[in-house]
Amino acid sequence: MKKIKFFAVTLLASTLLSAPYMVPFGSFTAPVVQAEEVKADLPNVKILATGGTIAGSAASNTDTTGYKAGALAVDILINAVPEMKAMANITGEQIANTGSPNINNKILLQLGKRVNELLASDDVDGIVITHGTDTLEETAYFLNLVVKSDKPVVVVGAMRPATAISADGPFNLYNAVKIASSKDAKGKGVIMALNDRIGSARYVTKTNTTMTDTFQSAEQGYLGAIAGGKLYFYNEMTRKHTKDTVFDISKIEQLPQVDILYGHQNDGRYLYDAAVAAGAKGIVIAGSGNGSLSENAFTAAKDAMKKGVTVVRSSRVGGGIVTPSSYYGPDLIAADSLNPQKARILLMLALTQTNDPKKIQEYFHQY
Ligand code: ASP
Repeated sequence: MKKIKFFAVTLLASTLLSAPYMVPFGSFTAPVVQAEEVKADLPNVKILATGGTIAGSAASNTDTTGYKAGALAVDILINAVPEMKAMANITGEQIANTGSPNINNKILLQLGKRVNELLASDDVDGIVITHGTDTLEETAYFLNLVVKSDKPVVVVGAMRPATAISADGPFNLYNAVKIASSKDAKGKGVIMALNDRIGSARYVTKTNTTMTDTFQSAEQGYLGAIAGGKLYFYNEMTRKHTKDTVFDISKIEQLPQVDILYGHQNDGRYLYDAAVAAGAKGIVIAGSGNGSLSENAFTAAKDAMKKGVTVVRSSRVGGGIVTPSSYYGPDLIAADSLNPQKARILLMLALTQTNDPKKIQEYFHQY
């Protein structure tokens, strides 16, 4: 398929093109794309597609907000960027095809297990995951904690749908494959690749609702950048990741329920009580400032803790470190520099290991 057709493809076309390669995957039928001609001197990169705007299709090429995320299948994405085939033998698999607000714990576990299975094989040198940007950082951080390999894993998305003039998806995907094909990207933890930046899943977060430079890492910076077709790495990860974590999802079928509650003036305790009644094993508070809680929220958090629920203080501020506090006590865990949505990911995994607040606080300082 010629590149130009990428901008005019429809869901119907995607269905027709992928039909000969359909294999069952989970609860739905998903296309698998085989490498056309395997070149022995190139690395083998697998693209796992989950949907998002990078696979989005709008009725008009100027519409960048009213579109269906996850409309195009993985073979369409791969065929749209034939230049990738000069860097790697590319194969693809569809894990899901949805907007990323729909990515749930079940899909996370399925994806994490599949990534580990693929990377255990000598036939796979790197993995690229296409994903919606809204919750991309959650999936990337989850993988950063559960992947048991130092081979490159790159999560990529786009802010403009595939049908838009100047869509950012094709080049982001090209860059992601460049990173996943590179030996220099090994051992750096899971990478987020958008807008020519090479970001760590631990540090990068979505900061803007619609702009293409939305992914930022204000405090810790990026691992590197891509310019002139070359990868430039500048920073090393200091937090533990991938092979150095204690988290093993190989036998886990379900992650514990962890809810996020937002701190604000005049907040009551009823949302805490509702979360506990609904079976939450953990609560992350997006508190004000340095993880501050109202008296109501503090009382409710202590009552939840008495019922065996683990509670973490993070911040709604969007930057900085939430520090442990003698006022709130050591059992109310501080999120370090994790934002609430990443703190939820770490707390879910922490609770698969222990309920000891001291141990979990250590995890928050290590990961
Ligand atoms: N709503 C989309 C999603 O997260 C946004 C995007 O991909 O940019 O799936």
